[in-house]
Amino acid sequence: MRVGQLVNKAEGADRLGNCGPMTCAMTVHLRRDKELEMGIGMQGLDCQNLRRFVRSCAHGTMALVIAMLCPMVEGAAAVEQARLRGIAVAPDPVQLQATVQALVGFGTRHTLSDTASPMRGIGAARRWAQSRFEQIGRDCGGCLAIVTPSQTVTGARLPEPAEIVDVVAIQRGSGDPERVIVLSGHIDSRVTDVMNASADAPGADDDASGVAVVIEAARILSRYKFPATIVYGVLSGEEQGLFGGKLLAEYAKAQGWRVEADLNNDIVGATRGQNGVADNTRLRVFSEGTRDTETAQDAKQRRFEGGEDDSASRNVARYAKTLAETYLPNWTVALVYRLDRFGRGGDHAAFNALGFPAVRFTENAEDYRHQHQDVRTEGGVEYGDTIAHIDFAYLAKVTATNALAAASMASAPPPPVNVKIAGAVTPDAQLSWTTAPGSPAAAYRVHWRETTSPVWTHSRDAGKTEMLTLMNMSIDDFAFGVASVSAEGYESPVVFPGGAGAFWAP
Ligand SMILES: [Zn+2]
Repeated sequence: MRVGQLVNKAEGADRLGNCGPMTCAMTVHLRRDKELEMGIGMQGLDCQNLRRFVRSCAHGTMALVIAMLCPMVEGAAAVEQARLRGIAVAPDPVQLQATVQALVGFGTRHTLSDTASPMRGIGAARRWAQSRFEQIGRDCGGCLAIVTPSQTVTGARLPEPAEIVDVVAIQRGSGDPERVIVLSGHIDSRVTDVMNASADAPGADDDASGVAVVIEAARILSRYKFPATIVYGVLSGEEQGLFGGKLLAEYAKAQGWRVEADLNNDIVGATRGQNGVADNTRLRVFSEGTRDTETAQDAKQRRFEGGEDDSASRNVARYAKTLAETYLPNWTVALVYRLDRFGRGGDHAAFNALGFPAVRFTENAEDYRHQHQDVRTEGGVEYGDTIAHIDFAYLAKVTATNALAAASMASAPPPPVNVKIAGAVTPDAQLSWTTAPGSPAAAYRVHWRETTSPVWTHSRDAGKTEMLTLMNMSIDDFAFGVASVSAEGYESPVVFPGGAGAFWAP
């Protein structure tokens, strides 16, 4: 639309300045159609400033105009997509409950439990998960390919060789199939003694809840077609040493997949913490700050130029937060600047270890009496990870958070590569980048924020070029990044310049 172009032309304007006195003039312009574009273009305003005007004006006509125009010049979250609106409300608490109930019904899903029984143990549970994917695949006309990568491993918690099997459904992308977004959760469970493979280990929250998210996301997203591939991973061996995540990450690498993100869900179903806090409006997302595979040279550059908070994983976390909070009312995705909880691990880390962006979702406040515990009552306290503690309406919002991020990423072009920034000892910041292989970008968008801000706050469209100069914006004072945008307005995660922020090694 014209407004986007006009704002671009006004590059030299001080977009962060205080434009308050122009409020009334803006109202007049916006009420007359012919003067509308000129009014915005002449002022060189962006939507953040326009919205500030709206708040002070509270004028209906103006609010409507801003609502129509601003998505064209703001970030991904502002480009509301009808498809994403549908996905946001699609997760069904009844479906999620049915999955958790079925998984709990296998008694134990310990990695070393029975694999032959049709009723009890991890083998029966895996076959059930596979049958769900097969049913979803039939419902979408064969859109899911199912694979079961496996590996025999030993470890501190697996003294005898044991077979780890992941159940993986692949929804192949139509335009850029080697680019992959992974959704994952682990199917295995445990009790107090991590080697006890026979006691009842319902594992409702840890991690039937995560598996339910993955299967429900598959049910919803399989109704759509995407340029990129979405992979639904039901992992094994997590409690015995994070084996299933490693297995899937290695499988991805062997297939030549370019993993844009693994969104891992582990302990995502309960809303009442051990501290008594009950909150059904908040989900945590953990992400590495600096990449696991950072080279010594990259680390040295980062020390001088920043990037401690801008790994691709962290920008995936920001992306999920922005999308979820746009499409889901009364919902917060809290960024935690940490790979995982203290002293604890998750399957996403295996993706990070191979250089793939990956994050972990976990409920707001955990109750440790309901994790890794023998099911019992002791001193009047109920222990054990039973289904009674799961909040399925909350789990539906967790599913929506995953599905929105996956659908948006899979609809958008790949994030740009070779993102660079220049402009030291000049008044301007200059961003440059290269188109990534895969589905073509229609345009690019440069984002920036104060170096201490947790989220991207400002953006400017760059059109289809591979360079943008931000006049009078000191390279020293902000963090910058670049995203790709599709013709329909789907935007990729933001890529921070240099090795610190790259999604894929060059
Ligand atoms: Zn877990």
